[in-house]
Amino acid sequence: MNQDTFASRLIEWYEYHKRDLPWRHTNDPYHIWLSEIILQQTRVKQGLPYYQNFVKAFPTIFDLAAAPEQEVLRLWQGLGYYSRARNMQETAKAIVNQQNGSFPNSYIALVKLKGIGPYTAAAIASFAFKESVAVLDGNVFRVLARLYGLETDIATSKAKTLFSTLANQLISSDSPDLYNQAIMEFGAIQCTHSSPDCLLCPFQQECEAFLTGRQNILPIKSKKTVIKNRFFHYIVFHVQNRIAMRLRGSKDIWQGLYDFWLSENDSILDTDELVKQLDLDLSDTIYTIKAPEKAYTHLLSHQRIEARFWHIQLEEVPQSQEGLTFYTLEEVEQLPKPILINKYLSEHFF
Ligand code: SF4
Repeated sequence: MNQDTFASRLIEWYEYHKRDLPWRHTNDPYHIWLSEIILQQTRVKQGLPYYQNFVKAFPTIFDLAAAPEQEVLRLWQGLGYYSRARNMQETAKAIVNQQNGSFPNSYIALVKLKGIGPYTAAAIASFAFKESVAVLDGNVFRVLARLYGLETDIATSKAKTLFSTLANQLISSDSPDLYNQAIMEFGAIQCTHSSPDCLLCPFQQECEAFLTGRQNILPIKSKKTVIKNRFFHYIVFHVQNRIAMRLRGSKDIWQGLYDFWLSENDSILDTDELVKQLDLDLSDTIYTIKAPEKAYTHLLSHQRIEARFWHIQLEEVPQSQEGLTFYTLEEVEQLPKPILINKYLSEHFF
């Protein structure tokens, strides 16, 4: 199958099967960028409301650049990898301040921006500016590995070079935007990870994986992610209708988001052990303590967090507050929070 046949058949498939998504109706690089960053975090269905909320709150790159960081993080809440949202805003500020808000219009210039890697740069360059540069994401790796029977481990840098070269040979120079959309959509809905629809596939006659029964083997990916177990012991201080929240610092997950007083241990603690760790001076205030009813498990890409929440009801705000600030429930709702904290709050307070 030559390059032209592959590209035209793929685009033909796309025109017929594509999902109608809002970012496919624009060539505004800012909106395309937003959609791509969001879609790196989640699937299309879950990402759609985030995209709509971001476009509504920050219709232009100037709006995103000027927004309070807290507001950006709050809209990002639930997507994880909050550094991506911060990088996005930093890049928006750089484009506004250094280039009067005008997006760079080439792959080479885009890939130099903070938070924009080769995949995102290729997506923006091709979708917005029709530059003939191939995207390479998990969908593209899968489709090419199966079609061409490539057994190179896709976790290696050798595979990146090999697949990138092949993808750039296959891209349609007339319609690089459609081609890139098409190959990703094909991987997402036709040549899927666990159940490729080979019987109705336009490439069935040529596909090496189908012809040799290797759909479930390809692509080959060796690296296994090492998952770290973490045990979070939270204390939720509560005074009348106010809750103590703490802004998380750098060098760990959830930077810039709010959680509660936290003790992290390698194992599960009981109430006495936990209270001993409290540096807060609670001697002047009467309090009642309630132990957790259950543990909450929260999974991140490389971490498994088991969180328990103790609840301490105080008569008044203590003198020493250890970085804690007391907020009303209405204020707490407006703070950007990790999804785990939001879940706990929704079950107990909102
Ligand atoms: S025949 Fe099956 S494995 Fe091959 S490209 Fe089509 S859907 Fe994917």
